Amino acid sequence: MVGVNSDITQHKQAEQELAERNQQLSITNAELERATRLKDEFLANMSHELRTPLNSILGMTESLQDEIFGTINERQLKALRLIENSGNHLLTLINDILDLAKIAAGEIKLEFSSVEVEQLCSSAVTFVKQQAHKKQIRLAPEIPPNLLNLYVDEVRIRQVLLNLLTNAVKFTPEGGSIKLAVSLISPEPKTDRPHYLRFSITDTGIGISPENISRLFKPFSQIDSALNRKQMGTGLGLALVKQMVELHGGKVGLTSEFGVGSCFTVDQPYSPEVRIPSQPQAIASDIALSPSSSNTNSYRILLAEDNPANVATIASYLEAKGYCMIFANNGQEAIDLARSHQPDLILMDIQMPEIDGLEAIKQIRQQESLRETPIIALTALTMQGDRDRCLESGANYYLSKPIKLKQLTAMIQQILI
Ligand code: MN
Repeated sequence: MVGVNSDITQHKQAEQELAERNQQLSITNAELERATRLKDEFLANMSHELRTPLNSILGMTESLQDEIFGTINERQLKALRLIENSGNHLLTLINDILDLAKIAAGEIKLEFSSVEVEQLCSSAVTFVKQQAHKKQIRLAPEIPPNLLNLYVDEVRIRQVLLNLLTNAVKFTPEGGSIKLAVSLISPEPKTDRPHYLRFSITDTGIGISPENISRLFKPFSQIDSALNRKQMGTGLGLALVKQMVELHGGKVGLTSEFGVGSCFTVDQPYSPEVRIPSQPQAIASDIALSPSSSNTNSYRILLAEDNPANVATIASYLEAKGYCMIFANNGQEAIDLARSHQPDLILMDIQMPEIDGLEAIKQIRQQESLRETPIIALTALTMQGDRDRCLESGANYYLSKPIKLKQLTAMIQQILI
């Protein structure tokens, strides 16, 4: 009797423990979901908050360099270039951190298209040419002719090559050399393993010791983490390279000899037998920079933007280019002014008090006379889907902050022809 009794008690106890554990688990799950959502919101906010001031820092610097506020002497120009370089550097860091966070959250969606290999390489090389030249580093691309196109997210893979090339320039002493080579890696016969296209970046730099190679691709780990280290950077670049390549189904590799040099490889899946048709170009990416014309006096531009520093930055530049500006500080003002002034073009910030930019665009579009008015959304939100949301609401174009004032002007000119 006693034995049976205690058995039942144990059984009951186990049941109750299981129920408690299940309940605990579902609480944990809910907390986890909430934490993930908070993290995503935090990232989106961070992105917005960090980009907004950068927009006026970089924009004002650009305006000053273009002598919008009067003549600039050589020494001042030098100082401005320094501000611009540091601002751009900060922007790269912000972008890298956000990209890594987005990858970790599974939020990066690749936009595949058919890409010409030679063009991909030469555009990446162009970016580092000047830096290499300054250090008298020879920079030689070695690309076999008649390669078929590669099917990748062009922007991301260019970023990968650019990261590796920038590193190579950074760690190669003066007078050294860097080679960017492309070769085809064929699978062993009678296997169904895919073909790869290998990009290899070889430098005559300081090299990396074997014990450090494995640490290299991990985020936030610089090999030399001492306070007095010679090279700056967050150590995010290579972690991003690795994750971006793996997102494409590819792999990264590294061989290096300390004091002799390094060779980084990126292997991208490649199907030589299929020629993939070109995809249509993304909006605005093919808008070329054209010299400013003074024949812009008749055009009226409505700028809806709540941040005074950004209003000053954009307005001073566009006014100097001869445009007539109207200002709205929030979405409601934008709607009202669009109706009363019928501008030729609208620049719309998205995050604004009371009525946000998306809602303002929707309401503006409901007005018959404003149905065709070009609207450019300007936003510091750069999370996945922000661009789509802007275009869905009725904007024609999208520029993310910090915006290049020259690019914005070129875009406006193109639209208002
Ligand atoms: Mn805003």
